[in-house]
Amino acid sequence: MKLPVYMDYSATTPVDPAVLEEMLPYFSDQFGNAASIHHKFGTEAGMAVSKARQQVANLIGAEAKEIIFTSGATESNNIAIKGVAERYGDKGKHIITCVTEHKAILDTCKYLEQKGYEVTYLGVDTNGMLDLQELKDAIRSDTILISLMAANNEVGVLHPVKEIGEIAREKGVFFHCDATQAVGKIPIDVNEMKIDLLSLSAHKIYGPKGVGALYARDKNPRVRPTAVLHGGGHEKGMRSGTLNSPGIVGLGKACEICQEVMAEESARLKKLSDKLIDEILGTIEFAKLNGDRQHRLPNVVNLGFAYVEGETLMMFMPELAVSSGSACTSATLGASYVLQAMGVKDDEIHGSLRFSIGRFTTEEEIDFAVECIEKSVHKARALSPLYDDAIQGKCCKYGKCCDHGHGCVDDE
Ligand SMILES: *Cc1c(COP(=O)(O)O)cnc(C)c1O
Repeated sequence: MKLPVYMDYSATTPVDPAVLEEMLPYFSDQFGNAASIHHKFGTEAGMAVSKARQQVANLIGAEAKEIIFTSGATESNNIAIKGVAERYGDKGKHIITCVTEHKAILDTCKYLEQKGYEVTYLGVDTNGMLDLQELKDAIRSDTILISLMAANNEVGVLHPVKEIGEIAREKGVFFHCDATQAVGKIPIDVNEMKIDLLSLSAHKIYGPKGVGALYARDKNPRVRPTAVLHGGGHEKGMRSGTLNSPGIVGLGKACEICQEVMAEESARLKKLSDKLIDEILGTIEFAKLNGDRQHRLPNVVNLGFAYVEGETLMMFMPELAVSSGSACTSATLGASYVLQAMGVKDDEIHGSLRFSIGRFTTEEEIDFAVECIEKSVHKARALSPLYDDAIQGKCCKYGKCCDHGHGCVDDE
């Protein structure tokens, strides 16, 4: 087993060796510009890009012509939201999203609010789930877009995408879905789910960083976001700039592999994350799972440990690469806004960690992780005066002292 054990697949994934192999020729021999259609160098690159476009489309049930290559999900989200807002702004200026969306959605919506748009931010319940009635009630005659993610990046909770798509279609409102965490892990079909725009990113599905795609529905209904980047008119004018052909080839291959292995891989990962959850909740007191137990990704486990700081836990287990909150929010050290929205108390938020596993995670690593977590929680709690008070209170109140043997004073 290689240390540290990587358990941060939701932040990014390693490139699958088969993906890397597919990409390599497009850095060297086949370096052509996919827009140079008058010589072999260009047409080779162009054909590789076409193949990748089909591979991406296949994974989400789309057509190749509906795929726009971008630099990643952040850019896809920006084009979807700003592009629809601008194109359809004369029909209305109201957008609906949710408080637990990724910052690439929330910050784009904040920007539009400064430009005169109105945004409704739906809340979630303590499990991180949306209320569909609340969504229906929020739709107005001037609503032009509903942007809701498929799976949350911090807690792994799934939104009912198909039901959301039905509501949006019935009301004639475009539905954009940030499916960056869901694609390749759970089946996504843009037609079955009535999704009009969808964002995905290569580096979350074993492809390279800096490349992603936006799906934009071509008919019934057709959606045409305006461009964010202007230039040579690449990607049907929606995203100018010379195509990143090695990256795009990598994204295509990554999608193809996901389609092949998804059912088996997700079943395996679900077993491993269930094991992680059950063992931690079974052996560590005052530990809880954040986010709905049923409606979740197979690979993301967010656990809260009361009476300790997540950062302290991480310090005590350098052999595990995990995340406190999402990678982006932990850079700003604020309490996780996703857990806050779920009503988790601030001290519990600070004691929460995200374990996200993936293609290369083994059962041995899960066993090792459980051991590490148990040890560091005990170590951190031994230093915590709050924990001392808590167990003494708890012992006397619930008569549970014998269960954990932490020196209760008033055995009854
Ligand atoms: C990672 C992520 C993004 C951003 O993707 P990039 O390709 O890194 O820009 C957006 N949304 C969600 C849900 C993510 O997990």
